[in-house]
Amino acid sequence: MSEQYDVVVIGAGPAGYHAAIRAAQLGMKVACIDAALGKDGKPALGGTCLRVGCIPSKALLDSSRQFHNLQHLFGEHGISAKDPKIDVKTMVGRKDKIVKQFTGGIAQLFKANKITAYYGFGTLHAGKKVVVKQHDGMDVELVGKHVVIAAGSDSIELPFAKFDGKHVVDNVGALDFEAVPKRLGVIGAGVIGLELGSVWKRLGAEVTILEAMPDFLAAADAEAAKVALKEFKKQGLDIKLGAKVSKAEVKKNEVHLTYNDGKSDQSLVVDKLLVAVGRKAATKGLLADDSGVKLNERGQVEVDEHCKTSVDGVWAVGDCVRGPMLAHKGFEEGIAVAELIAGLPGHVNLDTVPWVIYTEPEIAWVGKTEKQLKDEGVPFKTGSFPFAAVGRAVAMGEPAGFVKVIAHEETDRILGMHLVGVNVSELVHEGVLAMEFHGSAEDLARICHAHPTLSEAIHDAAMAVDKRAIHKAN
Ligand SMILES: Cc1cc2nc3c(=O)[nH]c(=O)nc-3n(C[C@H](O)[C@H](O)[C@H](O)COP(=O)(O)OP(=O)(O)OC[C@H]3O[C@@H](n4cnc5c(N)ncnc54)[C@H](O)[C@@H]3O)c2cc1C
Repeated sequence: MSEQYDVVVIGAGPAGYHAAIRAAQLGMKVACIDAALGKDGKPALGGTCLRVGCIPSKALLDSSRQFHNLQHLFGEHGISAKDPKIDVKTMVGRKDKIVKQFTGGIAQLFKANKITAYYGFGTLHAGKKVVVKQHDGMDVELVGKHVVIAAGSDSIELPFAKFDGKHVVDNVGALDFEAVPKRLGVIGAGVIGLELGSVWKRLGAEVTILEAMPDFLAAADAEAAKVALKEFKKQGLDIKLGAKVSKAEVKKNEVHLTYNDGKSDQSLVVDKLLVAVGRKAATKGLLADDSGVKLNERGQVEVDEHCKTSVDGVWAVGDCVRGPMLAHKGFEEGIAVAELIAGLPGHVNLDTVPWVIYTEPEIAWVGKTEKQLKDEGVPFKTGSFPFAAVGRAVAMGEPAGFVKVIAHEETDRILGMHLVGVNVSELVHEGVLAMEFHGSAEDLARICHAHPTLSEAIHDAAMAVDKRAIHKAN
């Protein structure tokens, strides 16, 4: 006997739980399956994001930032503390409490929306049938009028640096070190490597980041990447670009790395190694041979622009499909798919998904970079403004970074916004909103911004597009 549902969602991460809740709000009978267990061995909903991604990393970033500021920033405010210390166990415990609060929150939301949660691993078969191997050992068969695949992603493992959970770790291990490693090696200067590298650097680790690509943050605007790199180097993060790692051997409680810097082989010895070279769609065991769902050449579930797979009534959203691997992109796809299933319009504009790196300074952007526009032959103009000239940023002791607005040369329509600085994770949404409403740089320039706020950098940058910024020479 199989259980019948309107919608069966595989995966209760950001993409899956949004799809499930929105479908339930629209009056559908919904089941959501998730295989994950929390640190306590009990089922934990919320996916990578809530368990071992966005939220726990931000909890540690915040703890380590407080510690760093106490040591390096508070002095200029006249605040002193004698011999400040960090208790890693308390810090990680605080993070675990936050994770538990939020994963438990999803379970509550499921209950409130009458969504049936199944705890176990789901495999999709023909006929929109999902067989769930539950943690209690019982198999259950669910059949959905629609199935939404939201299986997310897993860390990519390097063949010469297998995760052992102790010396060679991925994000899961690096969120749970029991003490500050004296020397931390990181392979990959992407979002995860930079964020988690920053956490342990601020707490006192010597951090070396080895990045195979010659350019720093190739996906970001080159000017923003350059400014950020300069700040990270000032903080003592040792970022080696064009460094290709070929070997990682654990010997006597140390990890011995060999990398090539483009000229010759070099060695590096660290106490812990974080491998942060990207993530891949989590499709292992997900699709039975008869499911009919196709994967693309990158191993992601193949979907069209409306998240439809190759099988009618089977949809896929979030990290397991094309597009940015970001929680909020999954949120929007989950909602859009539930609405499409209900016969409503549903669409996600991948061109206005904001990107954020929660380092210090933060890096954020939306839309196109100058390089992309040049490659596409689109004529554009830019205006930028530094936080060093923004009263609020200076009063906060956070003068690093800038805002750049890119607008179409002829129409003035905003094509991109790039920000480096304090709290730009919040400010970037002004750019998202302006782009979604097809706004121009002049629109932004004519909108009254409160003084003194960080958002004034956006105002002046928008005015600078037309060479009429007030607070700098144009
Ligand atoms: C350290 C780190 C920090 C991050 N920080 C940010 C950030 O600040 N902002 C941001 O936007 N993004 C961030 N991300 C990325 C973000 O976590 C992902 O983009 C997001 O979680 C993807 O959501 P998802 O629902 O597609 O998949 P996931 O969150 O991966 O959830 C998928 C769920 O499905 C379950 N599952 C998979 N297959 C099956 C199956 N066959 N049966 C049952 N269950 C299954 C998994 O156990 C998992 O719980 C971060 C990631 C990491 C690793």
